[in-house]
Amino acid sequence: MPRTRKRATPISRALIYLYCLCLIAAAGLLYFTVFTKAYSPAAETNDPTAISTPGTSETPGTTDMPSTIEYKTYPDTGEKVATVLIDAGHGGMDSGKPMTNGIYEKDLNLQFALKMGKYLEELNPQIDVKYIRTDDDITWDSVESEDLNYRLNQQWETGADYFISLHCNAYDGDSSVEGTVMFINPTDTVTSELAQSIRDNLSAIDWADNYQIIDNQLLQLVSMSDIHSILIELGYMTNPDDLANLTSEERQDAAAKALAAAVSDYIMENPDAPEFVNPNYRHGERIKKDSETSSDASSSQSSSESSSASSLQNSSAAQ
Ligand SMILES: [Zn+2]
Repeated sequence: MPRTRKRATPISRALIYLYCLCLIAAAGLLYFTVFTKAYSPAAETNDPTAISTPGTSETPGTTDMPSTIEYKTYPDTGEKVATVLIDAGHGGMDSGKPMTNGIYEKDLNLQFALKMGKYLEELNPQIDVKYIRTDDDITWDSVESEDLNYRLNQQWETGADYFISLHCNAYDGDSSVEGTVMFINPTDTVTSELAQSIRDNLSAIDWADNYQIIDNQLLQLVSMSDIHSILIELGYMTNPDDLANLTSEERQDAAAKALAAAVSDYIMENPDAPEFVNPNYRHGERIKKDSETSSDASSSQSSSESSSASSLQNSSAAQ
């Protein structure tokens, strides 16, 4: 008897069509999910400057973007693993950048410094926190050379391993200039890594729209230091968004905690970080090379600002 091919009934044909439709829909959903996740702006890059495209960036100070920092606390072992010296820039007669909206840079610096120290102690009792100043009374003469000498001297008198100098920036003539700028010594790889951790943490709290880490326009406070030193210009007082951030109690707390966590975590994760041996300075004194004359050394003492005033950031960010 010849075999007869079984033909699909209308019902089973409909079921097959339905099955195919489901497969196509599932594939489409999978593609959509993967594609949009991989190429959405937030996932595209960790570089905050790339995220802040015109019209889409959130205004700093008003955002309630959740923090992605995992704040780690460390036990009190009774021992100190490192000393961090926090420097509130300027003070006393030296108010720093010109007053903006009735606000002095020196006062903002002090607020950030005290908050950062408080969070550092809370997060990590194993870190010894010292301050250059804890109020507006300065004990040194308000002249540039004494100011620089005092801050450098304190670095080795306190036995500090890390020096964090906090400042606020200003740029007269262009209120659109904004962001956080960090100055480090290019010969200190540890500070370079730490600066990146700080940038990542500040970025996680949506602190600024752009960040710069500058290692080729040295400020004397950084270049003459022989411990891990970083000078942070937290934002521009002359930019409305930055100023809103800098003067908001809530945002100050967020930034201070983010800074403290970056420093604390870096120290704990890098227990063998080498001490910084400054090839050019030892305890504030220029190490003379054979080829140098004494006039080279004196020329570097002339200013606490950076050596070149050629670029925008340099002229605007020098302490
Ligand atoms: Zn300053």
